[in-house]
Amino acid sequence: MKIGILSRNPQLYSTRRLAEAAELRGHEVFVIDTLKCYMNISSDHPSIHYQGETLEGFDAIIPRIGASITFYGTAVVRQFEMMGVYSVNESVAITRSRDKLRSLQLLSRKGIGLPTTGFAHSVKDTGDLIKMVDGAPLVVKLLEGTQGIGVVLAETRKAAESLIEAFRGLDVNILVQKFVKESAGVDIRCFLVGGKVVAAMMRKGEEGEFRSNLHRGGSASLVKITPAERATAVRAANIMGLSVAGVDLLRSEKGPLVLEVNSSPGLRGIESATDKDVAGMIIEYIEKNAKHGKTRTKGKG
Ligand code: ADP
Repeated sequence: MKIGILSRNPQLYSTRRLAEAAELRGHEVFVIDTLKCYMNISSDHPSIHYQGETLEGFDAIIPRIGASITFYGTAVVRQFEMMGVYSVNESVAITRSRDKLRSLQLLSRKGIGLPTTGFAHSVKDTGDLIKMVDGAPLVVKLLEGTQGIGVVLAETRKAAESLIEAFRGLDVNILVQKFVKESAGVDIRCFLVGGKVVAAMMRKGEEGEFRSNLHRGGSASLVKITPAERATAVRAANIMGLSVAGVDLLRSEKGPLVLEVNSSPGLRGIESATDKDVAGMIIEYIEKNAKHGKTRTKGKG
């Protein structure tokens, strides 16, 4: 097969591993810099141009779209879909998962366990917002943040008030979330390929850090997930319509709570923590599922 990996950087671990895994299985692989694609959307034959040439004959693409280029990146994926090229994650699903608020609304609509969450833009009634999530300690999150940036723990009611008021002055959208104490700086990343959890790791924040992001110095280890965690992760990825997904869970007294569903989950942490060939599994999934014209959006929303 001719497989395109949409990625800004061929040197990234995930990109390299996917390219390696595809080549190992005898496929022809091209790493395509998403931002360097330009498109013709006006003709009967939608096309994508790249460094002076037309991109043609692809059987499948693997979008690895960074959060900072979601808008343009999903347009490129959409253009491939218009050309009938199979994308392992579809543009609509990527867009859906990138909007944290929309994702949480979709998941809650389907009864997925989530930390109690309030959403606000410029709240005057800070007290009521805090009450909504059962008071301090609570977590305030910038809606546009990734990799733990803009995720802040307010331990007291006073701190929570000041924090929310400071964000109000910045004209940004925020989530206010109940702090799940018992998760104790630990979260579970479930890696899904084709609706199945193929690997799972536990991430633990540095000493004194409640955020377990690996980019923030957290460490990853192998974990055995419970049937409830597996079922929650599968449902969450399904609701988002993602074939490849990283579902982040917190272990709470009430069972698994979904924090986020990621459409371009990194491979480095999960492959080294679990010793599994996750990249190979993604390529195998593509081998079984890629078909020209198989680009219909899986879910709604
Ligand atoms: P990002 O998308 O920027 O990674 P997250 O919402 O996943 O932001 O939060 C980063 C980390 O902070 C999580 O991995 C988790 O360890 C911790 N965390 C986030 N929200 C909560 C919460 N409500 N209760 C306890 N810990 C949390």
